[in-house]
This record gives sequence, structure tokens and C-alpha cells, in this order.
Amino acid sequence: MTHIRLFVPTPLSEGAAVEASTAQAHYLGTVMRRSAGDPVRLFNGADGEWEARIVPRGRGRLTLVPERQVRPQAPEPDLWLLFAPLKRDTTDLVVEKATELGVSALLPVSTERTNAGRVNADRLNAVAIEAAEQCERLTVPRIAPLRPLADVLADWPPGRPLFAGLERDAAATPLPAAPRHAALLIGPEGGFGPRDRALLSRLEAVVPVSLGPRILRAETAAIVGLALLQRPSCG
Ligand code: SAH
Repeated sequence: MTHIRLFVPTPLSEGAAVEASTAQAHYLGTVMRRSAGDPVRLFNGADGEWEARIVPRGRGRLTLVPERQVRPQAPEPDLWLLFAPLKRDTTDLVVEKATELGVSALLPVSTERTNAGRVNADRLNAVAIEAAEQCERLTVPRIAPLRPLADVLADWPPGRPLFAGLERDAAATPLPAAPRHAALLIGPEGGFGPRDRALLSRLEAVVPVSLGPRILRAETAAIVGLALLQRPSCG
């Protein structure tokens, strides 16, 4: 049986009741038909995963009382995805799949040909939380505010390679397997423009990478790149 898993933004310890949000109470009570005493699993990104019991508080409110830790917090990949926002549903897809594929941070960047001028941070955060709940992660990836690519590159952390998906680039190499700290950059539907490419070529951390001979849609490129970066290294 699959457990209902919920992310809560509060500390978790034995007996310390957590108030379910209105949406969580609705989901548990009305959608999933759970009631007093039923189990639910909780995680908060820091204290591992807990089995909790539902304790109704009247007027549709619920508290969740952690009883025992069922998984300790464990290290997760240190992998960032930088992506140019796409159409709304496609951006949601990228956030969902990147969360399933274990990214620790999502950094939307605006580029020369970025399609969307804004991102809805609350919405993306909700998508990431739902994906984390479903895929049994113990964390929710951080979602950074949308920034121009130039600004993100200007304060790039030393020592973190930035693998930039560059289609039709003779200098592009295949992605390495399992780097310890890494970031993947995927461009917008229209690809990177000349100014973006010039910025990328000036930063030492940037490694141009190829994802194969075909031109992939941005969302496909993000999924493939994240999967390739996490294949086990052999030898
Ligand atoms: N419209 C562009 C393609 C953009 S594809 C054109 O026709 O040239 C969108 C993004 O996906 C690109 O910016 C790149 O980051 C990534 N991408 C797609 N296919 C790729 C490939 N074969 N190798 C590396 N990156 C790729």
C-alpha cells in the first residue's frame, strides 16, 4: 500500500502535533477519506520521514501527530538545474520531472530569447512539493527567483561545473557520470542567442555539453541531461 506523504514546513519530533494546512486537511479528509487515527507520513527536508496519526480538531481542521521516525534524513544529490522558463504547463513539467530526478535547486534564468518574462514562484513551489511527496524524496528543491542569465553567471560559485546544453556545437562533449556538485543549463525553445553564448564562453566553470545528434525540446533536454548526470560512474 502506498502511504500518503505530506511535506510540512515545521519541525518533526515525537508527539509534537503539526497543524495540517487547509489544503492538506481537505485532501486527507475529503479527497482521500482519511479520518481520526489514520496514518500519514510527514517530511520537512530536515528531520527524515515520520509516521503520524490524524487527530481532528473540529471545523474541518486536522492536526497530525508524529509517532515514530520511519526514515532518517539522508544526503541527496547536489545538482542544480538552470532553465529558461517555457510555456506555463511546460515549465510545470520541467519542475515536476526535475524534482523526481533529484535536483536540489531550480534556477529559472532569462536569456536572450526567453519565452516567458515571469514565473509564478508559489505555483512552481507547489508543483515541486507535490512531486517530492509523490516520489518519496525527503526534501523539496529550492526554487530561486527568475534572474537574468548574466547575473547568475556573474556570481557563479567557484568549483561548481556548469554543464551547458549547446546543440550543434563542435566543442560540446558528452555529460560526465555522477559529478559531485554540478549544474545543468538548458536554453529556451529558441535556443541560446549570440549574447548568451558569449557570456557562457567567458565563464571558466561552463562546460559545453551535447545531448546527442538530435535537437531536443527544452523540456526533453532537461530530463535527459539530469538523468545522464546521475548515471553511476563505472570504474
Ligand atoms: N530552436 C533551437 C533549439 C533549442 S532546443 C534550434 O533549433 O536551434 C532548447 C534547448 O535544449 C537548447 O538551448 C539546449 O540547451 C537544449 N538542447 C536541445 N538539444 C540539444 C542537444 N542535442 N545537445 C545539447 N543541448 C540540447
